[in-house]
Amino acid sequence: MRETWLHTLRAPAPAVAVRLASPEAHAAVQSLAAAPESAVLTTQDLRVYYGSFLAVRDVNLTIVRNRITAIIGPSGCGKSTLLRSFNRMNDLLPSSRTVGRVLLDGQDIYDPSVDPVALRRRVGMVFQKPNPFPKSIYENVAWGARIHGYRGDLDALVEECLRRAALWDEVKDKLDQNGLSLSGGQQQRLCIARVLSVAPEVILMDEPCSSLDPIATLRIEELMRELARDYTIVIVTHNMQQAARVSHYTAMMLMDADRAGELIEYGETNILFTRPRDRRTEDYITGRFG
Ligand code: ADP
Repeated sequence: MRETWLHTLRAPAPAVAVRLASPEAHAAVQSLAAAPESAVLTTQDLRVYYGSFLAVRDVNLTIVRNRITAIIGPSGCGKSTLLRSFNRMNDLLPSSRTVGRVLLDGQDIYDPSVDPVALRRRVGMVFQKPNPFPKSIYENVAWGARIHGYRGDLDALVEECLRRAALWDEVKDKLDQNGLSLSGGQQQRLCIARVLSVAPEVILMDEPCSSLDPIATLRIEELMRELARDYTIVIVTHNMQQAARVSHYTAMMLMDADRAGELIEYGETNILFTRPRDRRTEDYITGRFG
């Protein structure tokens, strides 16, 4: 039953046309787009404004299914704004305006027919600071599934999600304890279990380890690698080592002269970190600025 919930809710992966603005950008992701079904999210000339301020300029990016993509770049270059555009979280900020397209499995998520609540089930989010509900560990996981109409065995679902989030063994004897009683790292894994309970396709993570100690950080990284077998993960991180350790692909952003964030390089992580094409990427990853 829970397998049904976790697996069949996911949309099948139709072929997606990958379109990129510049020939250079196209060349950079050709290998990623080799199998059309490998694209899960595609942005086309994406711009995000806050009032009249352009925070993200003309981003064309393809996120590959069942891979971890890291978004890196100096503070303020639009990483979180870009991440939030993948599940329309920016819509919650009245001043923000999005132009261009973001395709999820080929469908434009900014189309008026798309329900943002249903979208955020398919594209879940884990935040910088763990934010469990002030409820029991069990309820933190069960709640989302229940409000989305889950009718199966809730106990089994909670166990499955806590196991997938590598937390079950630590909490199985105290499921009725408040989620806030857990350590920071455990709280973050509980938040991941909560996202898993509604069977997402994509998990967005906005600096998920920045409030954690190195051991808790490594556990989350290990978990991300496990989860990438079944989910697509996009992570914003200011930690270069983390991006290099955990991700398959890296997107490097910078601010232009008007402070608008731009995607300046995108490709396989091991290549971007060892043989970057853009001098500015090299300067950033070697710590010359940022
Ligand atoms: P990063 O994640 O790379 O640090 P952000 O996406 O948070 O960058 O921010 C990009 C730019 O947008 C920054 O100049 C920031 O000040 C601005 N910005 C972010 N959020 C808002 C907001 N809610 N209202 C106005 N400006 C914002």
